[in-house]
This record gives sequence, C-alpha cells and structure tokens, in this order.
Amino acid sequence: GIYLDYNASAPIDEAVLDTMIDVYRNHIGNADSRTHDYGDQARGIVENARKQVASLLGVSAGEVFFTSGATESNNIAIQGLEAYAVRSGKKHIITSSIEHKAVLETVKAMVTKGFEIDIVDPEQSGQLDPDKILSRVREDTLLVSLMHVNNETGIIQPIEKIGHFLREKNVLFHIDATQSCGKLVDELRNTPYDMLSFSAHKLRGPQGVGVLVLRKKKYKLPPVKAIMYGGQQERGIRPGTIPVALVAGCGKSCELAESTYADNRIKTQAVRDCIIGLLKESGIKYSFNGALEYCISNTLNLCLEGVSSEALMISTKNYCGISNGSACTSKNYAPSYVLTAMGLSPERIENSVRISWGPDTDINLLKTDFRKLIDIAKMLAQ
Ligand code: PMP
Repeated sequence: GIYLDYNASAPIDEAVLDTMIDVYRNHIGNADSRTHDYGDQARGIVENARKQVASLLGVSAGEVFFTSGATESNNIAIQGLEAYAVRSGKKHIITSSIEHKAVLETVKAMVTKGFEIDIVDPEQSGQLDPDKILSRVREDTLLVSLMHVNNETGIIQPIEKIGHFLREKNVLFHIDATQSCGKLVDELRNTPYDMLSFSAHKLRGPQGVGVLVLRKKKYKLPPVKAIMYGGQQERGIRPGTIPVALVAGCGKSCELAESTYADNRIKTQAVRDCIIGLLKESGIKYSFNGALEYCISNTLNLCLEGVSSEALMISTKNYCGISNGSACTSKNYAPSYVLTAMGLSPERIENSVRISWGPDTDINLLKTDFRKLIDIAKMLAQ
C-alpha cells in the first residue's frame, strides 16, 4: 500500500536507524554520568547531535536543547515563561486558531494563571494575515507563538515578516516548526525568532525526541525555565536522562536533511504534480483547501465533492494511509478546527482529506494506489 500520512509521522531513514542501533549496542552510558568512559562517549554522541541540529538551523550548538518532542518543546516555550511574566508584568500572549493543540491548549491554559490571550483567525487561504497579528501587539505583550507550516493544510505562514516586526518591538517570538524543519531550511534560517520547536519523527528521525531552540540575544538565552522538577540535564531546561540513541537519531536526521533538502523539494513537488495529474485525468470533482500558492510541496488538503472523508478512509484503509487531520474515531467525529477557522462549511470539511508524502514516496505505487482511491471515491460520490 501507499503511505500518505507523513505529516503524522514520516518513516525513519535507514541511516538514522543504523546510527541508533549502533548507540543502543555499543554506547550504553548515561551522558551525565561522567566518572567513566561510558558516560564520556555518550556525552560525545549527544554533543555531536547537538551540532548537527545547530548546523541545519544555522544556530549555535549552545542554543539547542533536546526534549521528548514538539509537544514538550511548545509547552516549555510557553509555560516556561511564567516566572518571567510575573517579574516583568508582561502577561499578554498572541497565537492563532490553527495552531497544533500542543500550542493552542497550552496558551489557553495560561488564562487560568492570569494571562490574557488573543487568538487570531486565518484567512480563507489558510494563511494568517501578518497585519492582523501585529495589530494585536501591546505594551505588555510577552509572546507571539505561531506555526511555520500548518500540519493539516500545508499552508506556509508569513513568519519572516512577523519575526522582523516582533524583533523591533522586543516581543518574544516562538515558532512551531514541526512541519517545516528540514524542509524550508533557508526560510527558517532567514527568520528572526527567539524560540523554535520541532519533533524528529517528521523529518525521518525517531519518534519521542525533539528540540527546543533558544536563541541568544546579547549572550543571554530567552527567559524560560523548566516546567518539570528534576536534574540539571539540558542545562536545567529539560530534566531527565538524555535518551542518547534518540538524540543521535535526531541529529542524524538533521544532518541528512541539510544535505538533501533542496533535492527533496524537487522530489516532493514531483509527487504533488503526479497527484494533481491523477485527479485531473479522473474527471472527479475536486478542489483544495487553502491556497495552493502558499502550500508546502509535501501536503495537500483535498476536498472531493460529495465524498465523505470517513467513508473514503474506511474503504481505502488497507492500502492507503490518508487522514482527515482531526481527532476522529468512529465513535466521535469532530470536524477539523483548522478548516473551520478558515471559514469552510461543515459539508466541505466532511468531504476533505489530508494527504502528505515524502521525497521517497514511490510514484509508480502512488499511481496504482491513488487511482484505486479515486475509483472508490467516484463510487462513494453522491
Ligand atoms: N506541532 C505540529 C505543527 C505538529 O504537526 C505536531 C505533530 N502532529 C506537533 C506539534 C506535536 O508533535 P509531537 O506529537 O511529536 O510532540
């Protein structure tokens, strides 16, 4: 079958797996247990991975902190500012209604701690209007937290413009780059930000590890504190034993991304062209959610007229990994809050699926399996 759910998790790269197996087999130490060579070796592996991440992002190794994934990184970036907010009296946070729950729910939870929040809606294109974000900035604005690429629509957000403005205003800027890290490499390098999150498994690394980048300003890190009590690992930002093999895998996936991202963009673009070609030749009634011109090359949010996404997913379940990008089980169907925020009708949302792929997606397999999917969709259409 064909796997078209890379935005949920991308298959691990063989070279990443090899790196991790070598660590599990041959480097058994704790990177913070330094009374022997075992610990020193583990520390060497972790610091090498930190350099690989830093190189991909164009930051210094001292600005990279390993976490369990983007969810944790987002939580630290937001909740970790509480003490500073109390100190500085800045208690206003701006975010958008299309963020991943790891940002949206964290920001909402800050209300109970006395924060004021502004949640900005996107345009129908799926993009946020930078002016709408910037017009909400106040004297007491502590933080703006936005994603770079939306996980459901693939729409790229105008973070560069927003970043420059916020830098001028001295407002902290956090970017959830989970869907863009390793893909829109130059764009991230050119954007001013204070904090950035991602998970390794979206760029063909292992699940369960991620990064929080904290950019220094005049040699000082952003004023975040750990949100868990524990040891001093990751310079106090993230206590807990460093999972050396996962971190090594994360580093390796970043190293691979750095050398392949330009090529990967061409490959994912070719897959997209193929999908659009198959849709066109099929004669089925389709359209895309979000403006294609702003869409990253590995994602499409596709509306098939009259075709229930649930029925389509169930009928193609055994050979085609697609999703409707929402918390959807057979018991409990919730229409996508992202598409809802873009102003799409409930009927349209019900007929929409997300497909996402990678540079290694097999075009020949795609042709046979996606054609099968289209045939099923035609039968389901009413
Ligand atoms: N942010 C975005 C934009 C995501 O797509 C995801 C994963 N779906 C996350 C955060 C959370 O990542 P993880 O589940 O690996 O913590």
